[in-house]
Amino acid sequence: MSTFEISIKSDKDGFILLQCSLCGEFFKLLASDLNDESTLNIWCPYCGLNGKEYYTKEVLDMSMKMAKNEANRMMFNSLKELERKTKNNKFINFKVGKKPEMEVVSIIKPRIENMQIMKYDCCKTMAKIKTGSIVTGSYCPLCGGANFE
Ligand SMILES: [Zn+2]
Ligand SMILES: [Zn+2]
Repeated sequence: MSTFEISIKSDKDGFILLQCSLCGEFFKLLASDLNDESTLNIWCPYCGLNGKEYYTKEVLDMSMKMAKNEANRMMFNSLKELERKTKNNKFINFKVGKKPEMEVVSIIKPRIENMQIMKYDCCKTMAKIKTGSIVTGSYCPLCGGANFE
């Protein structure tokens, strides 16, 4: 029996997707900042408020679906393997049905794709936020300081 864990994966730059529970906007913070014990609070870069809940239902749903897909794929592959092994066996006739349907996990993709890295000098950190908010200004996610021109 194989096990696999559901984890929120960081992107290739080491950022983890979060969603503000207050304004509903998506942003990404460095995994290293989120794991840092000195990071006690996170301020939303858009509304500058300190929300407690940042792991979204959508993000969790997406992880659950990815895990489910992975489980289905593993199950299907091992059944296929069994089918292959019993192919020439005249006593056992084992047939695997259709490939399981994959859950669609790309729902929030378009909303998280359009982000760019914003540097915050106050805390020497970075976040990925909506391109538009880089132009208009945002709040530092670690100290809540306003970074507006
Ligand atoms: Zn917000
Ligand atoms: Zn700061």
